[in-house]
Amino acid sequence: MNDEQMRLLSTPFDLVTGLSSKVDPIRRQLSAMSGMYADAEAFADMVAAGDPLVYEFYDLGVPADAGEIAFGTSITYPGKVGNEYFMTKGHFHSILETAEVYYCLSGEGRMMMENPEGDWKSCEMTAGAAVYVPARYAHRSINTSNDQPLVTFFAFRGDAGHDYGTIEDKGFRNLVVERDGRPVVISNPKWGSDPEDTQ
Ligand code: MN
Repeated sequence: MNDEQMRLLSTPFDLVTGLSSKVDPIRRQLSAMSGMYADAEAFADMVAAGDPLVYEFYDLGVPADAGEIAFGTSITYPGKVGNEYFMTKGHFHSILETAEVYYCLSGEGRMMMENPEGDWKSCEMTAGAAVYVPARYAHRSINTSNDQPLVTFFAFRGDAGHDYGTIEDKGFRNLVVERDGRPVVISNPKWGSDPEDTQ
């Protein structure tokens, strides 16, 4: 084990912000999510007006082997594109039969999950809630707060891998939008179509 790996045996994460003083996160600005929000006009306006940071997360470089556990925090910032809450891209695991655990450190939101057969689940996340993402379910974090980041700690089998492409091509079957000041789940009118064709 080299010095870098030894150092990463213990990694600090702030309990409220989720950020680490020792490692740089991967950052996703809105422009990296083209076609993923329902309101293409609002999306284009927000990218032009400053391209806000939507979320960041850690990849600590744990080896992608079956006996390893990849872990880190994910921070999704508050905001909306039109009436749709800020969210992560979401993904299936490349090894579909791989579950994951998320523990919510702060904020409030939803974990949206769906499997290839069409079953879906939306699980509320508040500080202290542990969410189990079952094997076969794509998953996306959605921040439904108006003013606080949604911060989670995640852990999953090191060889699971990420399949972002299926969601980029088809989207999730359901969206979480604000109606009368509250989050509601609606079916995605563009589900299954190539988002690049519908902008
Ligand atoms: Mn995952």
